[in-house]
Amino acid sequence: MHSPEPGIDPLRGIGMTSQRTRDRMASRLADQGIRDPRVLEVMAREPRHLFLDEALSHRAYEDTSLPIGHGQTLSQPWIVARMTELVIQEQPSRVLEVGTGSGYQTLVLSRLVPELWSVERINALHRRAGQRLRLLQASNFRLRLADGGHGWPEQAPFDVILLTACAGEMPAPLLAQLADTGVLITPLADAQGQQWLTRVRRRGSAFEHQRLEPVRFVPLLEGVIR
Ligand code: SAH
Repeated sequence: MHSPEPGIDPLRGIGMTSQRTRDRMASRLADQGIRDPRVLEVMAREPRHLFLDEALSHRAYEDTSLPIGHGQTLSQPWIVARMTELVIQEQPSRVLEVGTGSGYQTLVLSRLVPELWSVERINALHRRAGQRLRLLQASNFRLRLADGGHGWPEQAPFDVILLTACAGEMPAPLLAQLADTGVLITPLADAQGQQWLTRVRRRGSAFEHQRLEPVRFVPLLEGVIR
C-alpha cells in the first residue's frame, strides 16, 4: 500500500477514517450500552474502513450496516460490539464464526479470543477477508470456504459459536459442535419473521434459549459459491 501523503499511514486513516472518527464511534457505542472496555478499546483501534470498498470507506464509522457486494452487508458497529461482548463474556478458548463476510467481526474477535475459526460460503468474500486479516497481522484465526451450516467438525467442540446470518431453523450440526455449557449466539426469527439476537446455551443434551435484542441480518444460505 502506498501512503496518500508522506507520513500518513493508510491503515490508520485520515478525515472520516481517522483515529478521531474511531474514538467518536467508540464513545457512541458506550452511550448505546456497550460496557466491556476491551470491546470498546479494540473497536476504537482497528481500521473498520479497510473492510469496505474505497468508495464507501468514508462511511465506515457511521451507525449503520453497509454493503460489501454479493448482496451481503458489513454489520453495524453496535451489533459487532454487542456480539463480541456476548462472546467474550464466556471466556472462551475456541470460537467458531459462521459468516466471515468482510472479515471485520473476525478481526475484532481475533484480538480478544485465543483461537478462532471462521467459515464463509462466498469465495470472493472469503478471499478478500483473508487478505485484509493478514494485512492487519491477525494470526490466531483460520478461514474456510464452506457452508457454515455444517460447522467445522474437525475442530469441534467450540465454547462459542457465533452466526452472523439468520437461520430459519438452527442447523443441528452447529448445536452438536457446542461444548457442554457452550453457547451459540445467533439471530433467530420468530413466527412473525422478527429476528432476535438469541443465546442458546448447551447443558448436556438440553439447549436453553434466551432472547436478547431485536436485530436484522441477511439469511443463512446453503451451498458454496466459488
Ligand atoms: N460478520 C460479517 C457479516 C457479513 S453478512 C461482517 O460484519 O462483515 C453474513 C455473511 O454470512 C455473508 O458474508 C454471507 O455470505 C455469509 N453466509 C450466509 N450463509 C452462510 C453459510 N451457510 N455458511 C457460511 N457463510 C454464510
